[in-house]
Amino acid sequence: MSKLAINGGTPVRVAPFPMRRTMGEAEKQAVMAVMDTDKISGFFGSPGDQWLGGEYVQAFERKWAEAYGFAHAISVNSWSTGLMTAIGAIGIEPGDEVIVSPYTMSASATSILFYGGIPVFADIDPDSFNITADTIAKVISPRTKAIMVVHIFGQAADMDPILALARQHGLKVIEDAAQAPGVRYKGRPVGCLGDIGGFSLNYHKHIHTGEGGVLVTQDAQLAKRCQLIRNHAENLLEYTGMEDMCNMIGSNYRLTEIQAAIGSAQLDKLEGLLALRQRLAAHLSAALQGLPGVTPPKTDPNCGHAYYLYPIKYDAAVTGVSRADLVRAVNAELPHAAHWEQTVLAQAYVKPLYLAALYQKKIALGSKGFPWTLQPEVEYNYAKGSCPVVEKMHEEQMIFTPIVREPLTERDMDDVAAAFHKVLHNLDQIPRA
Ligand SMILES: *Cc1c(COP(=O)(O)O)cnc(C)c1O
Repeated sequence: MSKLAINGGTPVRVAPFPMRRTMGEAEKQAVMAVMDTDKISGFFGSPGDQWLGGEYVQAFERKWAEAYGFAHAISVNSWSTGLMTAIGAIGIEPGDEVIVSPYTMSASATSILFYGGIPVFADIDPDSFNITADTIAKVISPRTKAIMVVHIFGQAADMDPILALARQHGLKVIEDAAQAPGVRYKGRPVGCLGDIGGFSLNYHKHIHTGEGGVLVTQDAQLAKRCQLIRNHAENLLEYTGMEDMCNMIGSNYRLTEIQAAIGSAQLDKLEGLLALRQRLAAHLSAALQGLPGVTPPKTDPNCGHAYYLYPIKYDAAVTGVSRADLVRAVNAELPHAAHWEQTVLAQAYVKPLYLAALYQKKIALGSKGFPWTLQPEVEYNYAKGSCPVVEKMHEEQMIFTPIVREPLTERDMDDVAAAFHKVLHNLDQIPRA
């Protein structure tokens, strides 16, 4: 019987997991080529050929669109502003309700508030962690205008039932595919299976431009509205002949030529990075199979997975050991993480969004309760208990790791699995906090 590292035994592994290296020769050369042009941004915010951006921005957008069969790709300076652009472009008006997952990054929901929309939260499925047609149907009201689906951790949500429900109720569908670039649902790339959606290009995502994002849509009119919002629509409305002026005030969400050049080089790597993450995940899942209390992420042939994070469901009732105690014991068997990307196990993921002060106090735009005040007859209480599955994941069951990623190998996954095996086969040794 081996002594657990947390009790002074020999850990499974001490050598640090290698850091991710995201930039290579191709990106360096792309940046230098832009530097030689001395044109670091090609955008003009006034009528003329360049209101759609410079040559690298436009080439990057074409490349992304063509790679996945999207009719239109529109780059933006972050996916948070991309989500705001999407909400504006589909015409969300103050007081409209938009249904969204509470188990996601805050910007999925705050993008709705920026246009005076009211986020309404649907619970998640306990295996995919995504919202479903069933959970969405429960919160549809006469005020609902759109559904925002988040493909959380990188796994595609079950879209066909959601799209059917949306059609039935005349709702728009937005996809927050920040964590799922290149992922397919029943063979079709996610992003604009509904009306509009897109991807984040921040440093932590699969591929990145430091900061950035890409909107995608099959709808030419929506694409134009996004291009306008991105670049001071109010200067350009007459020039572009846009008649629907709703939400066309616009701002500056433009990507630079340097970022676009980096993005084009990064895009060449996406399919390879995804394939590697999928291989590592399959290896780790096989090695964790059958351990008490631990459930590897559920795979679904229809719903592809990018493994932005690798989620593990934990059941303390099976082991008699709390999640926090288990995580501490497993982490002690593996190298200390000097950086987030080396973190072996973390717990909970995000707090259900509606429990944040913003929703509890309903103070968003101004200090008087706008936009909730636009629906005085409706009580938006965002009470604890509203979405029990999310709360259970956050409070009890979710364990996740960001290390199912390049440049790690199956050998590294074996070490992670060995740490789980050692700890879960010596449950009586685990110190209880
Ligand atoms: C990263 C992320 C965002 C925000 O993207 P940024 O580019 O950082 O603004 C939004 N939603 C989800 C689900 C994300 O993971």
